[in-house]
Amino acid sequence: MHCPFCTNQETKVIDSRLVGEGSQIRRRRECAQCNERFTTFEMAELVMPKVVKTDGTREPFNEDKLRSGLNRALEKRPVSVEQIERLIHRVKSQLRATGERELPSEMVGNLLMDGLKELDQVAYVRFASVYRSFEDIKEFGEAIAGLDKKRSKTSHKKG
Ligand SMILES: [Zn+2]
Repeated sequence: MHCPFCTNQETKVIDSRLVGEGSQIRRRRECAQCNERFTTFEMAELVMPKVVKTDGTREPFNEDKLRSGLNRALEKRPVSVEQIERLIHRVKSQLRATGERELPSEMVGNLLMDGLKELDQVAYVRFASVYRSFEDIKEFGEAIAGLDKKRSKTSHKKG
């Protein structure tokens, strides 16, 4: 593969290790021309079920879209990249384990929200508000109420 810094074609692997519980190989590479180092990940490509949206249209499962949604929800939250990757990995495994060729987008969202709930409550509410687009006002309100309760325990009114 090309060096991402100078596009030279010759790069060498200087380190390689298993990550993601053995489902990925991480390789450190060094460019033979500019000596810059970068990392590549290698993993088996398994066919993911297609996602059926609420309007009935189908779209391919898009891991990048999912990741950017999670990153937005987790902005400035104390959650590591490794934890996010583990969540994505888990959701993908759960989707694949159904053995279905098509799954409702709602199911993808629900699995993600379950995972986020464990990782970070604030990110969970942020994600739910975007993902659900306030469709489920009641549950969203309950989530917010839960946060307020936590907050009021630790804060004091001024005056
Ligand atoms: Zn280079």
